[in-house]
Amino acid sequence: LKQDSLKMENTAVTVAVRVRPFNSREETEKGKQVIFMDNQETTVQHPDSNQRYTFSYDFSFCSVDNTDPNFASQKMVYEKLARPLLEGAFEGFNTCLFAYGQTGSGKSYTMMGFGEEAGVTPRFCEELFTRVSKSQNKQVTCHLEMSYFEVYNEKIHDLLVVKDEQGHKLPLRVREHPVFGPYVADLSTNVVSSYADIQGWLELGNKQRATAATGMNDKSSRSHSVFTLVMTQTKTEFVEEEEHDHTITSRINLVDLAGSERCSSAQTSGDRLRYSASHWPPGAHASEGASINKSLLTLGKVISALSEQCQSRKKVFIPYRESVLTWLLKESLGGNSKTAMIATLSPAASNVEETLSTLRYARQAR
Ligand code: ADP
Repeated sequence: LKQDSLKMENTAVTVAVRVRPFNSREETEKGKQVIFMDNQETTVQHPDSNQRYTFSYDFSFCSVDNTDPNFASQKMVYEKLARPLLEGAFEGFNTCLFAYGQTGSGKSYTMMGFGEEAGVTPRFCEELFTRVSKSQNKQVTCHLEMSYFEVYNEKIHDLLVVKDEQGHKLPLRVREHPVFGPYVADLSTNVVSSYADIQGWLELGNKQRATAATGMNDKSSRSHSVFTLVMTQTKTEFVEEEEHDHTITSRINLVDLAGSERCSSAQTSGDRLRYSASHWPPGAHASEGASINKSLLTLGKVISALSEQCQSRKKVFIPYRESVLTWLLKESLGGNSKTAMIATLSPAASNVEETLSTLRYARQAR
């Protein structure tokens, strides 16, 4: 009964959008701002046609100008979007947060950040351990394991295992457990007992992701990175002087997706498609672009099917198995889970078509 009532409460995906500051190139282009935010609404004023497009989300975060009283800081984004997921995880929900957007729009900044401007992932982990240390006592214990991998060209690579001497790393496979669902076979999992433990692993993983990206053209824009924490809470209860252990396991997934230009309509229309098809890096085949399309497109389909199911309250087919990413996240999307997405945007006129396509992708999730 408890599980059922949890499911009913589970409304559609929470969706936020965030616009970053102008970068120096956009500033020298004297690009004017085309995105305006007012409470939950995001409006785009098309620089050519002057047409206005308005979208509404759970949150519209404006991070263009930090002197603006409505400026959305890293802290604010964390508190509004990710803290509820942390609370959900303690209650036993599986949780998922995705960052979606064109390359250079602020996905990594939002998810990881840097230095004092820490992003969602480090803030989440730090608060998680603060709460664990407050709640742990004789009756409640908490065990945490983390893993970190990337999906590139529909293949999975462990980011926490250093390559062998030849620099080779075999891709890992997805398997499906009859009870626990899909998982990555042979993926390393690391027990973590403090925020410092996680920091060390995150540093290694981020470094490996960056190293793999150099010399492989824009690999980082083509891969999805998935940071997973599995939290097991054990509560000990005494019933008639007998000890009973009760465990709750929640999976937390924080995902930095490949650049959305790999799947947007702007990319697949006419000239842009031909342009990118003829510029695939040597050694990369057309299927590489196609497979990134696959995970991003399938994720879009899965999320919109879930929101349709949620609105109609009828069972809808969810195509989890159509891509590696959605298959792996099956148990953390829909059902007994809480999902959120943040779509990141460039403020500049030169990116307006990608911006509109990101806003449409984010809209279908609601
Ligand atoms: P992506 O991961 O989408 O490719 P990045 O996160 O690497 O994009 O962001 C591109 C650049 O913009 C980086 O230099 C980053 O520091 C900067 N940036 C992105 N979002 C913000 C923001 N909200 N505030 C300040 N700088 C940002």
